[in-house]
Amino acid sequence: MDNIFFSIDTYRKWLEQADKPLKDTVSFLIERLLSIDKSINAFSEVEGEAIVARASVLGKGAKGRALFGVPIATKGNICLKDALTTCSSRILEGFRPPYSATVTEKLMAEGALIFNGANMDEFAFGSSCEGSCTGPTKNPWDRTRIPGGSSGGATAAVAAGEVAAALGSDTGGSIRQPAAMCGVVGFKPTYGRVSRYGLIAFASSLDQIGPITNNVADCAAMLEVIAGYDEKDSTSVNAEVPRYTDSLNQDIKGMKIGIPKEYFIDGINDDVRNCISDAIKVFKKLGAETVDISLPHTKYAVSCYYIIGPAEASSNLARYDGVHYGHRDRNARDLIEMYIGSRNEGFGAEAKRRILLGTYALSSGYYEAFYLKAQKVRTKIADDFKEAFKVCDCILTPTTPTTAFKIGERVEDPLAMYLSDIFTISANLAGLPAVSVPCGFGKGNLPVGLQLMAKPFEEEVLIKSAHAFEQNTEHHKVRACDL
Ligand code: GLN
Repeated sequence: MDNIFFSIDTYRKWLEQADKPLKDTVSFLIERLLSIDKSINAFSEVEGEAIVARASVLGKGAKGRALFGVPIATKGNICLKDALTTCSSRILEGFRPPYSATVTEKLMAEGALIFNGANMDEFAFGSSCEGSCTGPTKNPWDRTRIPGGSSGGATAAVAAGEVAAALGSDTGGSIRQPAAMCGVVGFKPTYGRVSRYGLIAFASSLDQIGPITNNVADCAAMLEVIAGYDEKDSTSVNAEVPRYTDSLNQDIKGMKIGIPKEYFIDGINDDVRNCISDAIKVFKKLGAETVDISLPHTKYAVSCYYIIGPAEASSNLARYDGVHYGHRDRNARDLIEMYIGSRNEGFGAEAKRRILLGTYALSSGYYEAFYLKAQKVRTKIADDFKEAFKVCDCILTPTTPTTAFKIGERVEDPLAMYLSDIFTISANLAGLPAVSVPCGFGKGNLPVGLQLMAKPFEEEVLIKSAHAFEQNTEHHKVRACDL
């Protein structure tokens, strides 16, 4: 199948040349997506009529806008008014929010066509997209493997050429990890840079929405649209948003790139190690300098995250009681039985595990020993980065320790699953911006990603260095949808 989505730009040229009524293009795009998605399962449901209806109300002026007619997938935890938004959870079955997320509004204002409800691990708990109540998404590079998670549906949809770009959410790596495993670009902005209004919360102090794209230029363009202060989100930061596209095509000569020794541990597979060391050579050839740095508290990041994340999740999930939203146990004889029955039937295994972990860590007597301690460790992790950024402009690491694993391989082993995010979690704990960019292929032609992290609100540094790397390598030109 032709790849009409090589970049947002090439798609827009195609659209212009086709010169058809938008309605016809939308019907074509939906059919095309459905046919590719049969073997991917990036979407459990595509509400075609609603997509056509939304396209038909795009105003006349929309034609000149940045994303006019561009199909964009949004993860199933990003609200779209009156559209199914279930977080791939039975407990939100049939839920149609009465409002849209700020990011969705912003994309639509630029003329984008929203393909909402991309498949995900239930409530974004997971690293493989196997935790969805509607079944796993497949990796477009190898359909026996996971696409990564939790934004696996949104990411696979981009990699498989179903849509031009996507929005995911990243609490501990859920944009960057699937982007690495599917060979696309995934960007987690600084905490507070992009509004979380209308993002169904997992862990409110860690969640950020960000773009998933075929290349760095598309990523900069998407970020430019979605970033910015929003009075509806009390944690959004009122800081000026630079024009990220101005950071493309800039020289990185003299840039200092920190290489943290704690991220090159045993357990990284050779494919990843080799691709990263080749990538470092490319950066050096472009005139960047590498600096050896240390982030000594890295070893506590996973444990710290699995206290704070579940603690916040257990409190955010308390609202799903069978009364306010979605699924209800109809056989219960009284109120308490109804709460228990609804939550028992509505939540999957991982959600229950997180609720148990979180309520335990927050319970009196354990709060100081676990939650409070984890918060102190979180500060130490953030301090490590502050110290490191005194001697470097950005930090380079692998995004994931391995390439995409087989479907089913880690389902019975939550600890192995949790370790998939060992390199991405720290950026969320410290609130830093971070990006994953394709940097090669391992055995079985499976993509490998490299991660770059920068100081808070220095997204431009990431765009600039990721773009320089991309433009001087060929990986991004090889697409799963062209296989
Ligand atoms: N995989 C991590 C988790 O399971 C991160 C998920 C995310 O970023 N939403 O919590």
